[in-house]
Amino acid sequence: MNTIEFLRLCVDFAILRREKPFVLGLAITDICNLACRHCKVANQQHVMMSYGEVRAHLESGWRRGARVVYFEGGEPYLWHDGRQRLDELVVLARDLGYLGVHVYTNGTHPISAPADFTWVSIDGPDDTNFALRGVAAEVALANLAACRNRCGIVFTVNTVNQRVIEPFLRLVRTRLPKLRVMFFFHTPYYGMDELFLSPEQRAEVIRTIVSCKKAGLPVMNSKAGLEAMLTGRYPHPTGLYRVVDSSGDYRCCRAIDQPGVCRHCGYSSCAEIMLARDLRPGPIRSVWHTW
Ligand code: SF4
Ligand code: SF4
Repeated sequence: MNTIEFLRLCVDFAILRREKPFVLGLAITDICNLACRHCKVANQQHVMMSYGEVRAHLESGWRRGARVVYFEGGEPYLWHDGRQRLDELVVLARDLGYLGVHVYTNGTHPISAPADFTWVSIDGPDDTNFALRGVAAEVALANLAACRNRCGIVFTVNTVNQRVIEPFLRLVRTRLPKLRVMFFFHTPYYGMDELFLSPEQRAEVIRTIVSCKKAGLPVMNSKAGLEAMLTGRYPHPTGLYRVVDSSGDYRCCRAIDQPGVCRHCGYSSCAEIMLARDLRPGPIRSVWHTW
């Protein structure tokens, strides 16, 4: 990593508190091999950015201040342009100077791209993940077990999986002892559907996660970050994130213009980053875990 650029990023982000889109989320395709119950972005347009388009977005993001990129989808492992695959995009981003190159995947493909950190979505043990994502959790767990890169699991809590948090954490500790789980919460992007947790349910879930963390189970969220997900007391939406897909360029995420959604945002990583900016030790540890 370029140490000077990294120090400059730390100063810009936490000391000078510049309002730049430091994090670029690049949805390189909407094509996906799954049809998760909560998802309405997959396979809508069947778009695949070209290598040149990805490069142009990376360059433009860099000029605007992005220093970390998240490749997402759809399923980014399905991306290709001729013989170019996700691996080449990770190398490209690094060559352009990005300090952190992350991938968000559903984990059903071998996790081969040399990203700095790979986030794998699994929403519970086998039956539960199958009910929500149409695939057994074992598929992603096996790919994680075979992977030598740095990874973490994203578990998005909703009304279906809210009671399997502790068993899932125990499963991860046994199968993948080096990995931690970041808990997100179902965000009502498309309205208050049956997966949405009421404030009381979210509070109960957060108590469960905090108590699992205290018991030494592998929770990546900080206690402060979890509390912020309950109170909503952290700055959001934020201009520090930008999401780009083939349809446009969005501040924070693609839901920015939907009334009322941000109040129930479940994107916990955002809370961790915003609290890390205030130099809170727990969120700093949580964010640092992915560097
Ligand atoms: S894996 Fe991701 S993109 Fe694919 S259907 Fe599920 S949530 Fe949507
Ligand atoms: S729902 Fe709102 S606050 Fe949450 S990530 Fe999207 S735009 Fe940001």
